[in-house]
Amino acid sequence: MPNSIASIPPDANVLEISLFGPGVGECVLVHLGGGDWLIVDSLQRRPNLLPVALEYLGFLGVEPSGIRVIVATHWDDDHVRGLFQVLQAAPNADFYCSAAFGNRDVRVMLDLYGGVPPKQGTTAREVWEVFQLLEERGKPLKLVGPNQILYRRAATREIPDVIVSSLSPSHSAVQAAIQAMISRIPHNGDLRVFRPWRPPNHNAIVLSVKWDTSIVLLGADLEEVNNAIGWTAIVNDLNRDQGRAEVFKVPHHGSMNAFVDRAWDELLVDDPIAIVAPFRQGDVILPTAEGREAICRRSSRAFIASFPYRRPAETTRERAVQRTLAEASISVQHRTYPSGQVRLRKSAQTSNDEWAITLMGNARELCA
Ligand SMILES: [Zn+2]
Repeated sequence: MPNSIASIPPDANVLEISLFGPGVGECVLVHLGGGDWLIVDSLQRRPNLLPVALEYLGFLGVEPSGIRVIVATHWDDDHVRGLFQVLQAAPNADFYCSAAFGNRDVRVMLDLYGGVPPKQGTTAREVWEVFQLLEERGKPLKLVGPNQILYRRAATREIPDVIVSSLSPSHSAVQAAIQAMISRIPHNGDLRVFRPWRPPNHNAIVLSVKWDTSIVLLGADLEEVNNAIGWTAIVNDLNRDQGRAEVFKVPHHGSMNAFVDRAWDELLVDDPIAIVAPFRQGDVILPTAEGREAICRRSSRAFIASFPYRRPAETTRERAVQRTLAEASISVQHRTYPSGQVRLRKSAQTSNDEWAITLMGNARELCA
């Protein structure tokens, strides 16, 4: 497929899900229809350190003024890089983050009150700059708990209704975060007992994008913790939308600490499309062999934004790709776009099953 086709922006009546994941870092970009965009997390690419979401919108020739919603699922390094630049470029966007604040967020608050900006190049600095800019714009930082609507648009003649809502953090996660903060307030004569901070992954925002009857589940880095926090809490939540998703952005880079059978059984259709952003640092590669197997047992259409493993012989891969091409509407573009990206598009005019899948840069089938 030539470059010119890859760079055609989605029509007003097309839902697009793009997952970027070059090895470290994750970003999801969603076209909600009608020129409205949602950006979930951010990563930057060298050498110019432009956020991938802005780079890709530029590639499509789309103005960032169409960005309506920006979500920081949790404040971890591999998810926040460039969020400030994204917000800066998007004057019409609301900014959402988890209501279950953790240690990093509190550190930023303290820095703000002390008037000391956090060090350049740190996660805290990214958060601080976002907070500053929102304040300048007179916009609130919007805090997310479970079952909240972040975006809604009613149907028009061409475009179905769209709802973006949250499934986490759970009320228990929010409460635990508040208690952890309270435990740090010094009282006269008291011995302070610190409750440990929860890892940010426990407080991450999982999103559901409902487009007509189709649902896409964006799993962020949410891990399984206990019945009150994590995936089982979502499955058991009677207040959530009970529809099943046909696309799953697999949580926490396919890590087994986020793999919960009941989530696949009860939140998703049978054999959903699965998309994964890898994580690679030193000897750590996610998904592990076990994680990869677990995903491939559940999905016959699993894709990874860039391939983190030793590559199979080129001819084998090419043969596998040819077979898949013959079977489904999948196109492969290795040279047209530099970043690892899985792109899914679905038109309001086609029936439920028809997703056009494009693998760009180093994106691959996960299970081939
Ligand atoms: Zn991550």
